[in-house]
This record gives sequence, structure tokens and C-alpha cells, in this order.
Amino acid sequence: MVIVMRQGATKREVGAVLAHIEELGYRAHISQGVERTIIGVIGDERPLDPTAWEILEGVENVVRILKPYKLASREFHPDNTVITLNGVSIGGDEIVVMAGPCSVESREQIMDIAQAVRAAGATMLRGGAFKPRTSPYAFQGMGEAGLKLLREAADATGMLVVTEVMAPAEVPLVAQYADVFQIGTRNMQNYSLLHAVGEAHRPVLLKRGMSSTIEELLMAAEYILSHGNYRVMLCERGIRTFETFTRNTLDINAVPALKSLTHLPVIVDPSHATGKRELVDATSRAAVAAGADGLIIEVHDHPERALSDGAQSLTPAQFAQLMRRVSRIAEAVDRRLTLPEPVTA
Ligand code: PEP
Ligand code: MN
Repeated sequence: MVIVMRQGATKREVGAVLAHIEELGYRAHISQGVERTIIGVIGDERPLDPTAWEILEGVENVVRILKPYKLASREFHPDNTVITLNGVSIGGDEIVVMAGPCSVESREQIMDIAQAVRAAGATMLRGGAFKPRTSPYAFQGMGEAGLKLLREAADATGMLVVTEVMAPAEVPLVAQYADVFQIGTRNMQNYSLLHAVGEAHRPVLLKRGMSSTIEELLMAAEYILSHGNYRVMLCERGIRTFETFTRNTLDINAVPALKSLTHLPVIVDPSHATGKRELVDATSRAAVAAGADGLIIEVHDHPERALSDGAQSLTPAQFAQLMRRVSRIAEAVDRRLTLPEPVTA
């Protein structure tokens, strides 16, 4: 942290700042310019609140030097984090695709969709059992019955389960059925939930808050890492802007920005980002071209009958076509999206 003193700050004011630095256990480095004095604070500045220093007499400005997050930063961990789970690697060369309905609705629905997305090359099954709906009157999810069906469908097709957990008290229950916890956009800054999944032994897919900055997303990840869980993937799922044509605006910039700031894998959710199924294919390709490590995509066998997010859900056939197109982009950027061999009679 660097403290810039006001022009004409008195010796007494500079002395008081130096005394304060030492009192807190830091060391000071003074640089006496022609017009003003600049004081460097030496030591880990992260616990310090710069605004509290700005009220000291004679101080003009206080500037942070370090990023406020540490464990999530590339400086701390220069190599990419690769999360390996039952043979699926997230953050390596292979693009991982998570697909499935917004909500688990019935046994038949989740089984049919699981088979279809698996046949198209998805390795993780998504589906909500606890749904964070904007309206209390909208379908809230099947709860534990939905978790059981998800597990059954994933086991039957050889996939992993990613599903949302909404409250700290539900973490042990969701952990019985899920391979990966999803933290939804509305809960990105629910610090007790971040703490709870930080202590759990499951990887976490942390979705960016719809009105959160990249730095706030990284600080939310830092909470999970600082509680001992290093298996965190970040998800760009669209942010609120003035644009109303799409549900959200896919912040494609966030992908290369995150890849340079952090070692954690970056996943893109083009379904919630756009809210329109006709935009999902192009935005998926853009995401992989921009360096995303994976995609999470909503697929429904009857989107017109879906209990949530039908308008942004692809049919299985549209999803299979997307996979073929995305795999060509993956190849162009030196990544891989392995598609299963087509079954021939
Ligand atoms: C979802 O994945 O269905 C979901 C609710 O996502 P988000 O939290 O990004 O809105
Ligand atoms: Mn959804």
C-alpha cells in the first residue's frame, strides 16, 4: 500500500502516519519528493482498509498495490488448476461440457435427456433440484427426489452430476448425490454458503453474480479456497446491462481476463447469458474461441413444456449439432472436445 501525503503536509502529520504504520506491525519506506512525501507500507496489506488511512491528518490518497485476492491469483499459482474427477479433467486440454435441463422434472425426463446429452459427448449432467426462482409461485424444484433422479440418470449414463446448493444447511444432503456443487448467480456473495462449500469435499462451480465485477467473483472464490477447498471453477453466465433483447449480456471479455488473473478453470453458461436458444450455439463457439475450459448448457427434450427456462433450452438434436460445431472451434484453438463415435447399425 502506498500513502501519498498532501502537498505541504507537516512533519508532525508525516510522523503520525509513520507511528501508525509501526503500531500495526508494518514497516515504512519514505520517499521525499520536491512537492510531497510518499510512504510505502511494507508487509501484507490485504487486511488493511485503505479508506481508514485516508482520514489521517495530511493524507491525500492511499493506493493498494496487491490484488485483494491471493489464493485465487495466477501469481500465487502460475500453472492452470486442473480438477480431475472420475476420469473427467476440467481445466486441461479437453473442453468439458455439462448439459441437461434447467430443472429435474420427472424420471422419464431426466433419463431421456441424460441419454441424449451423453450420446452427443457431454460428460457431466446438470439439473436443478433446488431452484432459486425469482417468483415464489414458480416451480421450486423437486428437492431430494430430484437429486435422487439426477444421480440415477448420471450413473446409468456414466456422467457426473452438477447441481445447485442454495443453503449451508443443505450442503450435506446435496453432497450425498452431487459430484460438483453449483453456487448460483443469486448466491455468489452468500458468504455462509461459500464457507460451507469451502469446508466440503466436492468441487464447486461458482457462478458470477449477475451484477458482480470480475474482482468480486474472484473474491467469492477466495472465500471457498481460504476454507480449504481448492477445487473451484468459475462460471461466466451473463451480467445485467441496459440491453433487454437478451436475458443477460455474455461478458466474453471475462473469459480471457479471468484466464490471466486466476489459475482456476473458467466455464461459460451461454443459456442463462442469452436466454435465447437460437443464440446458444454462436456464444458457445465464441466462449471456446476465447479460452473457456468448458460450457454448461440447458437441454430439454420438450422445451415448450419445460417447467423453467424452456426458451433458452436446446433440443437434443440442436445440442448434438452444437457439440460438433464447438469441437471444430476447440481444435482451432489447440483444445479438444472428444465426441463419441456415432453408433452404426
Ligand atoms: C441454473 O443454472 O439453472 C441457474 C439458476 O443459473 P444462474 O444461477 O446462473 O441463474
Ligand atoms: Mn436455468
